[in-house]
Amino acid sequence: MARYTGPVCRMCRTEQKKLMLKGNRCKSDKCPINRKRPAPGKDPKGRPGKRSDYGIQLREKQKLKRIYGMQEKQFSLFFERALRMTGITGENLFVLLERRLDNVVYRLRLASSRSQARQVVLHGHVAVNGKRVNIPSYLVKPEDEISIMETSRSLVIFKDALKEYGKSGVMPWLQLDSDALKGKFLASPRRSDITDLADIKEQMIVELYSK
Ligand code: SF4
Repeated sequence: MARYTGPVCRMCRTEQKKLMLKGNRCKSDKCPINRKRPAPGKDPKGRPGKRSDYGIQLREKQKLKRIYGMQEKQFSLFFERALRMTGITGENLFVLLERRLDNVVYRLRLASSRSQARQVVLHGHVAVNGKRVNIPSYLVKPEDEISIMETSRSLVIFKDALKEYGKSGVMPWLQLDSDALKGKFLASPRRSDITDLADIKEQMIVELYSK
């Protein structure tokens, strides 16, 4: 599947939001958003243009899609699946995105960014319930155990990620055993649990796809 290969920080500058796509750099002074760099192609002194409803809905969708590192086709398939589930579609979409294996590896602090987590999964370093799974979009279920393969545990990448991010703990729907490099997906989160993405207006995304 074709992937975006341009400058990653440009995506954050377009959205004027920290999408946290580059691990350590996102927390440093080098982050262009921390340095208040304007959106690409925008005059920093120019007045912000008024956005149409469609434009606002599109930006919300792009933000969420980019945060989870997905391409349009896969993201729209996730949306269709969320639509078929019972309950509120926007919340269902969040639950599905949070259940992605690459996201769970990132949330367990075993990778410094979702893109690094995706690589870790693709390279076969991750097991679910003891079996190797190398599909980043694999959907983890409640009570599943996610671990680093025995043969990969000495890789410095995991220790570095845990050292840097492990101190801040994991989200409440996860459990981490940092010594054993494994964790558990305890239950699907509720929308209100996903506090770091509280500003995303998922209803706008639902409206966009309903057109
Ligand atoms: Fe976004 Fe991180 Fe780049 Fe900052 S450093 S612009 S948060 S990807």
